[in-house]
Amino acid sequence: MITYRDRLRDVLLEGVPVKWNKKCIKYVETQEGIWVFFEDGTQEFCNILVCADGLILQVIRKQKLPELQIVNYGITHVGADISIPKHLMDKANKIHGNVLARKTLGTKGDSTFMMTRLIPIKQEQNDEKNEPHYRATLVYSYPSELDNVESEKVKVDDNDPSSVIEHVKRLIRTLRPDCTLTNLLLELWDLAPKTIPNDPIKFPFKTYNPIQRRMMRDIDPMSIKSWSSSRVVLLGDAAHSMSPILGLGANNAIQDADKLSQALLKYSDDNISFIEEYEKEMLKRTSADVLKSRNVTFMTSTPLGPFGVIIRDNILKVINVMINFYSFADNLIFKN
Ligand SMILES: Cc1cc2nc3c(=O)[nH]c(=O)nc-3n(C[C@H](O)[C@H](O)[C@H](O)COP(=O)(O)OP(=O)(O)OC[C@H]3O[C@@H](n4cnc5c(N)ncnc54)[C@H](O)[C@@H]3O)c2cc1C
Repeated sequence: MITYRDRLRDVLLEGVPVKWNKKCIKYVETQEGIWVFFEDGTQEFCNILVCADGLILQVIRKQKLPELQIVNYGITHVGADISIPKHLMDKANKIHGNVLARKTLGTKGDSTFMMTRLIPIKQEQNDEKNEPHYRATLVYSYPSELDNVESEKVKVDDNDPSSVIEHVKRLIRTLRPDCTLTNLLLELWDLAPKTIPNDPIKFPFKTYNPIQRRMMRDIDPMSIKSWSSSRVVLLGDAAHSMSPILGLGANNAIQDADKLSQALLKYSDDNISFIEEYEKEMLKRTSADVLKSRNVTFMTSTPLGPFGVIIRDNILKVINVMINFYSFADNLIFKN
């Protein structure tokens, strides 16, 4: 199933009384429950603390399981949400076909990814001046060591989106051959917003993530010997952040929430064994996906020589033929 992030967010927030702009700084566990402390000086008491604070700060995870390590892949990625005018979308479709996800692999471990939404953005009626636009997410990944090449001394300001976008374009120009696809990639990155956008056609997304270089990292929850169960429960990226390459992170976070809600039905004050049951299932399921995503990321990010490129391209061609064959057979069976 494919969904827009902002729609998913609205659905998940329905009926949930969220208190925004409160940052948790620590917790203290007692026999009866947990005291949670916030940056604004307030505190709350609860029986069970569900920690879903993602990968970036990891305040609670670091307190609960300090030995759990974040693995840095040595790969940098830059992402941007953009709105593509129809004439550029047509160009992209001519190269890749009219597909949802488009990935291109370079020879130096660099790759590009574009996820498009095929329904045009809603425009004002009778707005004939504006050609239809489509939402898309661009991601550019490359080995982080390319930023440390002594001779080229890369200077990028991650607080300035134009500097990051120029850096991405410079890498694309350097690492890719001069061809129509490369020109298209450069044109697409030109559409990335350089300041916080406010035009609903040019930027129809509800949230704006600053365009920055980010390290690709993950957490394998089964990389530690024992996972101590307590009234503090981890969920989502806080427990098992993974490479975005297979799109499994939010899927697992939602499954965690579902499994934990089911488990919470068994809650009683003196018995928290249901948490252990939830964690057992969560650890097994998500660790497998963390490792699968890590392997695919390394496979597609390894620099290749000319021989390696021939092998890789032929394997991809065979996979492509197989996918088309299965899809053809599927259609045939489905129609009959
Ligand atoms: C480029 C990219 C593409 C992706 N594509 C996909 C995809 O196609 N499909 C998919 O399934 N997954 C995808 N993912 C992964 C997905 O985004 C994450 O797995 C998912 O957002 C994890 O959800 P979460 O709620 O655990 O953490 P987050 O979404 O990180 O949310 C954590 C929240 O906690 C808040 N927080 C942090 N610290 C504190 C604190 N101390 N106090 C209070 N609040 C705090 C943060 O502000 C944030 O709002 C992608 C990720 C990336 C980077």
